[in-house]
Amino acid sequence: MPAHLLDGRGVAAAIRAEVAAGVQRLRARSGIEPALAVILAGDDPGSRVYVRNKSRAAEEVGIRSHVHRLQPGASTADLLALVDSLNRDAAVHGILVQLPLPSAVDPPRVLEAVDPDKDVDGFHPLNAGRLALGRPRFVPCTPAGILELLRRNGIPLEGRRAVVVGRSYIVGKPMAALLTAANATVTVCHTRTVDLAAVAREGDLLVAAAGRAGLITEEHVRPGAVVVDVGIHRIEREEEVRDLFGDDPARIEEVRTRGGTLVGDVHPRRGGAVAGWLTPVPGGVGPLTVAMLLRNTLQAAEAAAVH
Ligand code: NAD
Repeated sequence: MPAHLLDGRGVAAAIRAEVAAGVQRLRARSGIEPALAVILAGDDPGSRVYVRNKSRAAEEVGIRSHVHRLQPGASTADLLALVDSLNRDAAVHGILVQLPLPSAVDPPRVLEAVDPDKDVDGFHPLNAGRLALGRPRFVPCTPAGILELLRRNGIPLEGRRAVVVGRSYIVGKPMAALLTAANATVTVCHTRTVDLAAVAREGDLLVAAAGRAGLITEEHVRPGAVVVDVGIHRIEREEEVRDLFGDDPARIEEVRTRGGTLVGDVHPRRGGAVAGWLTPVPGGVGPLTVAMLLRNTLQAAEAAAVH
């Protein structure tokens, strides 16, 4: 039986509507218009698309957004100067540094320079530390969105075995902290994990955030498990598409007409078939990430209104 799909788009739309209502309330109460500053440095094509989507989504809920573009040759000092001016600008409530940064830039130095009160991505050590201590303020958007998706679909977490594949500060680590706080028993896997399949199969919940297309197969999934697929990969070779999707005519057509199709870390035929619940790619985790960014920005503006 195919897995039930966990509809990220629907939950994201509900969150965006809540944020839009919150923005209206804040404006009526304090006259404050929430504002998000997005820093786009470099020329990564994926980043440009993500930034455009985030800005558009912000405007739609009434959050003003401004994209600050830096040349691919930008240095750490250039970024630090921009971050500093945005930190001081009282009209800016949230600051987002789009990753990846150009190779000459030191990402931790830039992320650590963001005012923790404006750190709507939740990557500043203070916010990461607060989450680890169980006193979260700004939580990274992707894992926060995944928790909302699970909660709003009534997926039980307490006492359940959760396995997270990936230990990045963007997804894996904060995901593990959130699931621990929700009383799941959490295992974190990474590149040095021995027998990933056996460990992953222990999960009632499996979060796949390794960044490897089609890594998760039937060997990794406990039958009936809830599987959250965080990976996003664009594949362009028809041979690879056939390996992942079989002779799916829609996917093959998409590659022929649009030059590629998207797949997650979960092998669509092999991993997806064993899961009980599954997030689709696209339409699963991606829209939630954007919705949670908007929610964090509203919260930053609300906190600024109190000061
Ligand atoms: P990352 O490369 O920083 O981290 C990947 C992690 O997976 C590492 O900790 C690594 O140890 C682990 N890993 C890699 N290969 C593995 C393997 N074979 N077995 C076990 N562990 C392995 O990536 P990230 O930033 O955490 O992102 C992960 C994926 O999620 C990427 O595909 C990224 O594009 C996607 N992503 C999607 C969204 C979204 O909104 N949908 C947001 C963030 C990231």
